[in-house]
Amino acid sequence: MTPRHPEESVDEHIEALRRRIDELNLDLLRTLSERAAVAEAIGRRQTEVGLSHYDPMREQQMLDVLVAANRGPFSDATVKSLFKQVFQASMQLEQEQDKVQYLTSRRHRREDTIVWVGDVAIGGDHPAVLVAGPCSIESREQVMATAAHVASRGVKLFRGGAYKPRTDPYSFQGLGVEGLELGREACDAHGLHFVAEIMDAADLPSFELHVDVIQIGARNMQNFRLLKAVGRSRRPVLLKRGLSATIEEWVMAAEYLLHEGNPNVVLCERGIRTFERFTRNTLDVSAVALAKLETHLPVLVDVTHSGGRRDLLVPLTKAALAVGADGIMVEVHPNPAVALSDQKQQVDFDGFDAYLDATLFPQTLSPGRTELYRS
Ligand code: PEP
Ligand code: MN
Repeated sequence: MTPRHPEESVDEHIEALRRRIDELNLDLLRTLSERAAVAEAIGRRQTEVGLSHYDPMREQQMLDVLVAANRGPFSDATVKSLFKQVFQASMQLEQEQDKVQYLTSRRHRREDTIVWVGDVAIGGDHPAVLVAGPCSIESREQVMATAAHVASRGVKLFRGGAYKPRTDPYSFQGLGVEGLELGREACDAHGLHFVAEIMDAADLPSFELHVDVIQIGARNMQNFRLLKAVGRSRRPVLLKRGLSATIEEWVMAAEYLLHEGNPNVVLCERGIRTFERFTRNTLDVSAVALAKLETHLPVLVDVTHSGGRRDLLVPLTKAALAVGADGIMVEVHPNPAVALSDQKQQVDFDGFDAYLDATLFPQTLSPGRTELYRS
C-alpha cells in the first residue's frame, strides 16, 4: 500500500472535535477534582461528628436528581453507573483521609532517613556500618582492650552494656553509671562512638552525658514511658525489635520516638522467638526487607543475639546485608569464656578478625557494601 500524504490523513473536522474533547476532558477533571475536595470536606466533618461516610439514602437522592435531569445521549442506566463510580472514588478518598499518617511510614517520607552519629552516616546509600563491642562492660581492662582492638580494625561504633536486662536476677546486672563512664573513656581514647542500652528513663541524663547512641533493648521495646522519654531527646536511638514483637509493633514503637520529636531512629532486628532450638532466636530477614520498604528508617541487624552462635555470624551477616540492612551489630570480648554475660555467643579478637575477613564478600552479593569494615 502506498502511504498517503500526511496532509490527506488529517480530517480537519475530526481534529477540531478532538480538540474540543480534550478541552471537555480538562473541564471534567477540574469539576471532578472540585467535587472530590468538597467530598473530602464532608468526610472530615463526618469523621469529627462520628458519622459514617456511606449514606445509601443520600446516594439514591443524588442519582434520582441526575436521572431526572438526564436529556441523553447516555441512557439513565449509564448515567447511574458513571456517577456510582464517582461516588465510590469519593468515598475511598474519605476513607484514606481517616487513616493516620504515620511519621515512620514511607508514604509520609519517601527518601531514606540518614542518622548521623558524629561523622558516621547510617542509612541511605552509605556503606553499611559495623557496631562492635562486648555484651557488657565489665572492667576498665576489658573495655579498653576491646575498644583498642575493634578501633584498630576500622570500627567506628562501639557497643557495651552498662545496664543489663538479665533473665536471672542473680546474674551480672551491669556496672551502671560506672560502666557508662568506662565506655565513654574507652571510646574517647580510641575515636569511637558509644552505643549503650538504657533501661530506665531516670537514667536519661547520664546517657545524654556519656552515650552517643541510646539503645532500647528488645525487652523494653514496648516500654512506652521509656520510648516517650527517649523520644524527647535528640540523641540517635537504636531500637531493637522485641522478642516476640510483630513488625507492626516494632514500627509503632519507633513511631513513639518520632512522635515525641526524635527523628534519629535506627531500627535493629535481633531475631525473634520461634519453636526453633538450634538457634537462640530466629533472624527474621523478611522483617529487615519489610522495615526498609515500609519505613524510611535505617535498619541494622544484630547477628550475635539473632543466632546466639558464633558459627552463624558470617552467614547471618551476609543474609542481612543481602536483604538491605544498613549495618550489623556483633559482640566481641577479649576472653568470652569468662564473660559475665553471653559467654557462648561473643567472639574473641582472633574470631573477630576472622569474621571481618570472611565477610568481605564479593560485590555481586551486595553491591556497594564491600566498604564494610574498611575505615
Ligand atoms: C544487647 O544488645 O545487649 C541486648 C540485651 O540485646 P537484646 O535487647 O536484643 O536482647
Ligand atoms: Mn549480649
